[in-house]
Parts: sequence; C-alpha cells; structure tokens
Amino acid sequence: MSDPGNQDAIVIGAGVAGLAAAVALADAGATVTVLERRPYIGGRAYSYEHPALSETIDSQHVVLGCCTNILDLCRQAGMSDTIRWYDELTFLEPGGRRSLLRPGNLPAPAHQAISFLRAPMLSLRDKVAIASGLARFLHGYPANDTESFASWLSRTGQTQRAIRHFWEPVVVGALNDGFERCSVKYAGKVFHESFLRSAPAGRLGIPAAPLSEFFAPIAELARRKGVAINLKSGVEGIEQTSEKNWLVKAGGEVYTTSSVILATDFRQTKNLLAGLKSSIGRNTTLNEDFDKFIPAPITTVHLWYDGDVVDIDHAVLLDTRIQWMFAKSRIRRWAAERGSYLELVISASWSELEMGREQILTSALQELELFFPAAKTAKLVKSGVLKEARATFSVIPGLDRFRPNQTTEWPGLYLAGDWTATEWPSTMEGAVRSGRLAAGALMGNPDRFMSPEAPAQGLMRWLSRQ
Ligand SMILES: Cc1cc2nc3c(=O)[nH]c(=O)nc-3n(C[C@H](O)[C@H](O)[C@H](O)COP(=O)(O)OP(=O)(O)OC[C@H]3O[C@@H](n4cnc5c(N)ncnc54)[C@H](O)[C@@H]3O)c2cc1C
Repeated sequence: MSDPGNQDAIVIGAGVAGLAAAVALADAGATVTVLERRPYIGGRAYSYEHPALSETIDSQHVVLGCCTNILDLCRQAGMSDTIRWYDELTFLEPGGRRSLLRPGNLPAPAHQAISFLRAPMLSLRDKVAIASGLARFLHGYPANDTESFASWLSRTGQTQRAIRHFWEPVVVGALNDGFERCSVKYAGKVFHESFLRSAPAGRLGIPAAPLSEFFAPIAELARRKGVAINLKSGVEGIEQTSEKNWLVKAGGEVYTTSSVILATDFRQTKNLLAGLKSSIGRNTTLNEDFDKFIPAPITTVHLWYDGDVVDIDHAVLLDTRIQWMFAKSRIRRWAAERGSYLELVISASWSELEMGREQILTSALQELELFFPAAKTAKLVKSGVLKEARATFSVIPGLDRFRPNQTTEWPGLYLAGDWTATEWPSTMEGAVRSGRLAAGALMGNPDRFMSPEAPAQGLMRWLSRQ
C-alpha cells in the first residue's frame, strides 16, 4: 500500500466546487490531493456513454455572463472557446409563434425594452405588470430570503399570462422549483443580474461539448499545477487528531493533512460530519440544518432524428411541461448528414419522477410537435430519458439561515459545495464560488480568489446597489 504522506490540503469531491478549490489552493502554492469517489470528475456536471444508445449524454448546463467565477476558471483552463454565446432568447408558443428578447441600442436597464414591447406572447397589460415587477429589482434584490416568489407575484398584481409566459419559464428554469419553494431574493437576483444589470451579464452561454469533456481542461489545469486527483477514492471517514491534523480514510488508505475541504453534496457532508461529531464529542446544530435542504429533480429527454427538425439552437417552450429545447447538434455544429440531436429539459420534474420513461417520452414528443411540426415527419432514430432526482437544491424561503459558511467550528476543516453560503442558487457559479471561498478561508482571506462581479452598465451604474 502506498503512503500518501503529509498533504497541505485534501479536497474531498471533484465536482465543480472541489476542482475550483484545488486550483485556487495550488495557485497559492499548496500541495493538494483531491479524493473523488466516482471514476470521473465534474460531480453533477457530468456526461457518460449511454450503453444502449451508444451516445455520450448529459443534462444540458448553461451559464450566464454574470457567472464571473466559473467563466474565470474556464478562461484559466483555456476552455472559453468551448462555450457558445447567445444574446437572444426565443420564447415559443404552441403553434410556433415566436417572441424574441434581445438587447437593442438603449442603455441598461432598458436594453431589452424594444424587443420586450414587441413580444407577441404578452398583452400590453401583461407587459405593464412585468415592467412594474422588474422595476422592483432595479436597485438589487432583497437581502432577506423569507418571502416566497408566489407571495411576491400576487402582491405585485401579476397577470396570469405574465406569470405563464415570463415569470414562470425564467424562475422555474433558473431555480428549478415552483414559486412557493423559491424565495424572492434568488428570483430577484436572476432578474437583476440577467435582465437589468447589463447586456453582457445576461448573455447565455452553452457548453458546446459533453460536460465531462467540457470540464476535462479544469482537471488538466489542476494536474499541471501539481494537484493529485485520485478517482475511485470514496472517503469513508475523517478524523481530527490530537495534534490538530486530520486523518482522511479512503479506499483502504489513510491520508494525513493539516487541512480538509469537504466539497461534497449536503447528504454526503452530513454523513461525514456525523462521524466527526461522535469522534470528538462536539455539539453542532449543523446536523439538523442539513434536513432543511430539499433536492429538486430535472428530467431530460434526448432525441436523435435522421434530418433537420428545428431551425434554432435553443428556445423556451411556453405552456408545456418542457421548459427548454436545446438543439445540441446545432450548438455542437454537427455536419448535416449526422442528422439532428435535441434535448428537452423538464425542470422541477417531480411528476416525471413517478412516470415511466415511455410515458415521459410520448408526452414530450406530442408537445414538441406542437412547436416544431417537422418533428412529425422526421424519423426518430433513437431516444433516451435521463432523470436526475437530486439535480439541485431548492432555494426555499428562509434557507439562507441554514446554509453553512465555508469555515467550520473545527480548525482546518472547511466546507464547499453549491449548497453552502454563497449568495447564489444551486448552480455551477455557486459551486465555484464556494470552492474559492473555502480555499480563501484556508489561506486566511476568504475573498482572495474571488473574481469581481460583472460591472453594471448604462443607467444601472447609478441605479444598482449590488
Ligand atoms: C440535470 C442538471 C441540470 C443542471 N443545470 C444547471 C445549469 O444549467 N446551470 C448551472 O449552473 N447548474 C446546473 N446544475 C447544477 C450544477 O450541476 C451544480 O450546482 C454543481 O455541479 C454542483 O457542484 P458541486 O461541486 O457543489 O457538487 P457536486 O457536483 O455534487 O460534487 C460533489 C462531488 O463529491 C463527490 N463525493 C461525494 N461523496 C464523496 C465521498 N465520500 N468521497 C469522495 N467524493 C465524494 C461526488 O461524487 C461529486 O463528484 C444542474 C444540475 C443537474 C443535475
């Protein structure tokens, strides 16, 4: 058995948070080992070879221009070119009517105003309600997360169509749960950052490669900086020694280190901390706090056709179970003879968790044909359904109180993961922020590795407080 020896830091978990922490620590000169239980990096942001389909599939992840930390990490790893950027959002109604939201010549926050006023999916009354609602997020979003977005919608007099055609696709798509289980704070953050702050902050970025391939350069960057990434190394327990060192047990090995960053999801973190609590006999309320986190599901439907079915790279689909259509063959610039590959995303897919795959597929195909009639005549070559039961956590009202800081009560032990206190919802940006905050805390300055926020532009330079 090899002796891993003393490490400056061990990062447990090679998801986006763990990788971000490892790169930051290595940049600061630390010796870092990452222990990951799975045979691949990326955590929930992964792709895999589907055995029956003989295709590599993933659940489409997107970023926005305001996700400055993950974009900085991508730039460091030299992978910015693998993100396809879009300024325009297309909203589609059944029957095919299109509404486009795109920046024009007016300064922020009015940069999308012309296209918004022209959008046929909304009546004038809906638009007035939306504009007055958005105006409430001009200066920022509430610091307090106790109010639900459901309560906000009724308090601000939003019309049914404004809800169905604007607030719902954006909020459910971004926060992955119903209005009752999303706080105004995080919904407001989405609108402030991506619709009002500036045109660049609201740009939509779509990885143009399967996620594991997309994230591989970050692992390579970490390795170039001297980080050891040990896959298939599930950590069974951590223990604090009397010398204030840490023992980390993984795959029959015991690693000794002065610092540990636990970059695992909340369920795994709870398990690992539970062992720690009994080993050192400390009291913590963290254990109960973990039970406040609700995992929320996302289901994706993957369709391969023998020819063209759609004429756009992506679209928000209105009045359906499907939130978003991604034409992956177009985003990845496939040659025409390869046919087309679409992914349909069903956010907050609680009901789909109970449904069989055939049922989900049949219903998704019927809905898709309402928007893209060519799907009726094209030959469906193969299809797959991917259910992710624990895709994100819901930013339920009042959750902030239970999201732990990256610094813990145990010297030398830090937490990372999208669910820790980051001021972001469950996203890759939140994950990178958490990893960088944990690495910064370990080095004595939590903000040391953080990227600056996306600058406000136009009138927002004076209006925005955030
Ligand atoms: C279907 C889907 C769609 C999504 N869409 C988007 C999107 O469009 N945009 C966006 O920004 N985000 C999206 N997300 C959310 C995003 O994937 C997560 O927020 C982010 O990846 C979380 O990263 P993390 O490192 O905090 O956690 P994780 O990815 O959960 O990483 C934790 C890692 O720890 C490892 N681990 C756990 N226990 C142990 C142990 N005992 N020992 C060793 N290793 C361990 C796990 O294997 C895992 O690799 C989506 C997620 C899903 C599933």
